Amino acid sequence: MAEHPRDAYTLLVLHTHGHGDHVAADAQFTDRPHTTVVPGDRNSAWGYFGFTDDPGRVARVDLGGRVLECLATPGHHEAAVTYYDPHTGFLLTGDTVYPGRLYVEDWDAFGRTVDRLIAFADTRPVTHVLGCHIEMTDKPGVDYPVLTTYQPDEPPLQMTIGQLRSIREAMDEIGGRPGRHAFPDFIICNGDA
Ligand SMILES: [Zn+2]
Repeated sequence: MAEHPRDAYTLLVLHTHGHGDHVAADAQFTDRPHTTVVPGDRNSAWGYFGFTDDPGRVARVDLGGRVLECLATPGHHEAAVTYYDPHTGFLLTGDTVYPGRLYVEDWDAFGRTVDRLIAFADTRPVTHVLGCHIEMTDKPGVDYPVLTTYQPDEPPLQMTIGQLRSIREAMDEIGGRPGRHAFPDFIICNGDA
């Protein structure tokens, strides 16, 4: 504040979706001055971005000269949002895309989301696809067990557009069958798998 004087820095807390492990720390921001917390449930989050009326829109959030583009990307969670940061080229996909178990709650919505992310990435320079977890090992198709806390042989978090396309191809191969379907860089868990 001394170096860059202004009235205040505001803090905006947004989520990629409303699952417990992603919103558990929200309470720490309660009553914090100059802070807006947008809860991760569908009404709150999608209402904030204007997705409730128009899920196909690209919402924009200005962080102060740095404008994020935000997409409604349901499938893993009904209120999922993906963020694109043009400054870094990061596509921040939450739990929708990451090197691990992709838990699909709504198969059709998930497929439309993956298609939309591929189409979006075709129109923007994307440097990395960054999700929120790593669960794979460095052996193709082999993941660490749930709740593992030491993963010395995990792949990097960042993924490529090529891997995003591989998810689409994997979905075509699975064809909506429920269950756990392992592929080299990710595992698609459809339904209660
Ligand atoms: Zn999740």
